[in-house]
Amino acid sequence: MKKAILWEKKNSFIQCHLCRHSCMIPEGKTGICGVRINKEGALYSKVWGKTTGIGIDPIEKKPLFHFYPGSSVLSFGTVGCNFRCMFCQNYTTSQAPREGRYIEQEDITPEEIIELAKKHDCQSIAYTYNEPTIFLEYALDCMKLAKKNNIKNIFVSNGYFSKQTLGLIEPYLDAVNIDLKSFNPEFYSKIVGAKLEGVLDSLKLVAKTKIWLEVTTLVIPGKNDSPEEMKSIASFVKEELGEDVPFHISAFFPCYKMADVPSTSAETLVKAKKIAIDEGLKYVYVGNIDIERAEDTICPRCKKTVIKRSRYLIEENNVIGSKCRFCGEKINGVFE
Ligand code: SF4
Repeated sequence: MKKAILWEKKNSFIQCHLCRHSCMIPEGKTGICGVRINKEGALYSKVWGKTTGIGIDPIEKKPLFHFYPGSSVLSFGTVGCNFRCMFCQNYTTSQAPREGRYIEQEDITPEEIIELAKKHDCQSIAYTYNEPTIFLEYALDCMKLAKKNNIKNIFVSNGYFSKQTLGLIEPYLDAVNIDLKSFNPEFYSKIVGAKLEGVLDSLKLVAKTKIWLEVTTLVIPGKNDSPEEMKSIASFVKEELGEDVPFHISAFFPCYKMADVPSTSAETLVKAKKIAIDEGLKYVYVGNIDIERAEDTICPRCKKTVIKRSRYLIEENNVIGSKCRFCGEKINGVFE
């Protein structure tokens, strides 16, 4: 186990400040995420140097569409999560500590992760599969080494990290995709086990930094798929984060404790995309489903296709030096 960071002693408890739960952890117990333990008056991470899996993906799969499009990313994660989403697609690993299930993990040092990224020509490392905030000590050690090796760092996050955590990762984090799962506080409290306002606050904080930001909403039938809710989400993204923040609308498939909920229809997703565009967002995408041309980047000025994608793969890239090749309009993003 690795001595944890961002905690303080409070009588016989330890309060963890990594995420917005601010767990008060008694001796011998873990916080909500199940991977940070109070042992003899100090807090330890149970997941440093242990991964549940490593993959090489196109960066579009994270999804990040405006950050080095077409590049490869080394992805890895650990066990545990500070959320308990009833629709989690990675629940076998994310909810394992909470549910007392044993999961096989592989020992791998930050140095070995960097070497793997280099071996596979990955321009970035993504801290993903489960919430990276909860393995911050491990992630930070990797991020510092990655920076030294000119490899970019990406978080795929639920946005529930604390302000202090953001302060620690900001110097090393190049891009983040944050889930905005709903605009309904009840959805967050009942289905996710968190508070909407914490996620909104994190999003606003990140938008003020130099970290590249994209936002994703998974649309679940009957839970968060009303036109009003999509309008509220899109309006928040535009007004608080920026009209040129890429927004991903993702299809839900029955899973975990929502195995009885149907998949999102193409019709609902196409309508949601129209609502987001009508609200004024410049770059809106539909993913996790095959809908023709729904992943393309359209130039906001001349309306021509500047990046043509199909199932996360780039078919055509007409962005030259951050500008549309056809009309010269700036395409917001981090391009070669
Ligand atoms: S990281 Fe884990 S222990 Fe720390 S506050 Fe969040 S849920 Fe609690």
